[in-house]
This record gives sequence, C-alpha cells and structure tokens, in this order.
Amino acid sequence: MANSKYEYVKNFELPDPLLPGTFLLFRLDGHSFHRFSAEHNFEKPNDVRALQLMDHAARDVMEEYPDIVLAFGESDEYSFLLKKSTSLYNRRQSKIVSTLTSYFTSCYVFRWATYFPDKPLEYPPSFDGRIVVYPGEREIRDYFAWRQADTHINNLYNTTFWALVQQGGQTTTEAHATLRGTYSKDKHEILFSRFKINYNQLDPRFRKGTILVREEEPEPTPAIEQVASAIENTATPSSECEQPATSPDSAKSKKQKKRAVKAKPRTRVVVIHTDIIRDEFWSARPNILVE
Ligand code: ATP
Ligand code: ATP
Ligand code: MG
Ligand code: MG
Repeated sequence: MANSKYEYVKNFELPDPLLPGTFLLFRLDGHSFHRFSAEHNFEKPNDVRALQLMDHAARDVMEEYPDIVLAFGESDEYSFLLKKSTSLYNRRQSKIVSTLTSYFTSCYVFRWATYFPDKPLEYPPSFDGRIVVYPGEREIRDYFAWRQADTHINNLYNTTFWALVQQGGQTTTEAHATLRGTYSKDKHEILFSRFKINYNQLDPRFRKGTILVREEEPEPTPAIEQVASAIENTATPSSECEQPATSPDSAKSKKQKKRAVKAKPRTRVVVIHTDIIRDEFWSARPNILVE
C-alpha cells in the first residue's frame, strides 16, 4: 500500500524499550480511591470484599500473562514482577503498562458484582500504572519488603485510628491527634488496653497483604488409555534404525515421545498472606528470581 503524505508523523513515535536482562516491576494503584472507597461505603479500616476483588483482578492478570512470576497487593495497589527474561511486547514500556493496567481495570469492573452484589458501581474506577526496572535480586527482595512493611505500618495506624473512632467515640480529628507522635508499641498498647484487640491476632490478610505465586498442580492420575499410549510411544521399535530419518511417521512419534517425557507441569495461581521479608519465602521458591 502506498504511503500517504501524512505518514511522516509516525516518525515522531519513539521506541521505548526496557533494558534487557533486568527485572520489570509493574505497579498499579487506584486513582482517588479515598473518594472511591467512601462513595462505595467500604468498611473501615479494611473492607474484605474490596481486597478480595483486587486479588481476583490480579489473579486474572497473572493467568493472562504467564511471564508474571509474583504479585503483591495491599489497599488499592498491586505490584507484579515480570521475569528477567521476559520478551512481553518486545519489552515496550508503554505497551506493557497500558495493556496490563487496562486489563486489571476491566477485570476489576467485570468482577465488581461478585463481591458487591448489593452495591452498583457509582462511576467507573481507574488505576494508574508504572514500570520500574531493577537490576538484581537484592533490589527485588527489598522492593517487596518495602511494600509489605508499608502494609504493616498503614494497617497498624488505620486499625488504631478506626478503633478510636468507632469504639472509642473520638472524632476523626481527635483520633489523628491521639496518634500524633506515637510509635508502633504505643499503638499496640492503645489497641490492647483500651479495646482488647491483640494486633498480632488480626487477619493476616490485613497485616501482611496478599501474595500471589504460581504453584505446580499435583500430577493428575493418568487415565488407562493415556498410560497405554505413552508406553506405545516410548517403546523403541526394533526396526527404527532401518527407517529413513526423514520418515514423517518417525518424526511424529519422536515428537510425541518428547511431549510425553517433557510435558511442562501445570501451574495455578495461589493466594497467600505470609511474610515476604525473611529468607524463608524466597528459599522455598527459588524459581521466582532465576529466570
Ligand atoms: P491516589 O490517586 O494518589 O492514589 P488515593 O485516594 O487512591 O489517591 P491512596 O494513597 O492510594 O490514595 O490510598 C487509597 C485509599 O483507598 C486508602 O487510604 C483507603 O482510604 C482506601 N481503600 C482502598 N482499599 C480499601 C479497602 N479495602 N478498605 C477500606 N478502604 C480502602
Ligand atoms: P494490537 O494488539 O497490536 O493493537 P490488533 O489486533 O488490535 O493488535 P490493530 O492494528 O489495532 O490490531 O487493528 C484492530 C483490528 O480490529 C482491525 O484490523 C479490525 O480487524 C478490528 N476492528 C476494530 N474495530 C473494528 C470494528 N468497529 N469493526 C470491525 N473490525 C474492527
Ligand atoms: Mg490510590
Ligand atoms: Mg494506594
């Protein structure tokens, strides 16, 4: 097709590749969710339905994009780690950021009624998205530690703040004033002595945030026919060396053999609420940082 005289404007579009061989960390965050949560009557300090909806949309994203190896969510934000070797959209920054943000947003809206059956959406929510490039494993571990520490700090503050308001009868201004200058141990003390709340026994979802990882599915018990066909495919026929190497049948059976032996284990995305800061999480899942 002949180019039009207008085509030159395309040259203004510059490539935006992300450095090869680096971890890509994609984070999205709800736009003005302070308002969105108020207009949709989210329970304070933590609306479980809203958190589960975020988790579901994030799981949808991970199922759609196999190169995402880990995700972490809290409040109105989610972080996704793409493996170092990913060639998703040729590592074009705006393509990755825009498609992932838009896919998450539509999944959030798509699944809204499952979590809020009695509360119609008042207006369309939106999320911002960004990618940060990290060179090594240390920074990736510290990134997730940073987000989980943030979850803890915010949740301890919010839990104490809302206990003062909802159970202690303070106004929001008074509650902010009560908490001004307090340390973590003071908030634990207020929660326990005034409201009989043992912070460490609260739902780990609120204290630790949500982690999404891929786990291998247990091997299904093979059906009898599959076993029979695998045996048939792996048995070396006595005449094999006499057959021409180019025989389509022989090529086909070799392919089948390979598939039977090297079938990739099926994985599924699982939701956990655990410590991501200490070594245990990472040493139990060495694959996250290798690829
Ligand atoms: P910005 O557009 O700059 O991100 P924001 O209003 O979204 O502004 P954030 O710092 O992202 O501000 O905070 C999100 C706010 O959304 C929280 O402070 C909280 O009030 C509310 N929120 C999000 N998720 C929940 C939830 N599950 N339960 C209760 N409140 C929530
Ligand atoms: P990419 O993800 O790279 O954008 P794409 O498949 O979306 O790939 P586009 O170049 O964006 O490719 O083209 C969009 C295609 O969608 C068109 O070629 C056309 O086939 C189809 N399409 C979009 N809108 C309409 C429409 N209103 N009616 C019929 N077909 C449409
Ligand atoms: Mg926000
Ligand atoms: Mg936020």
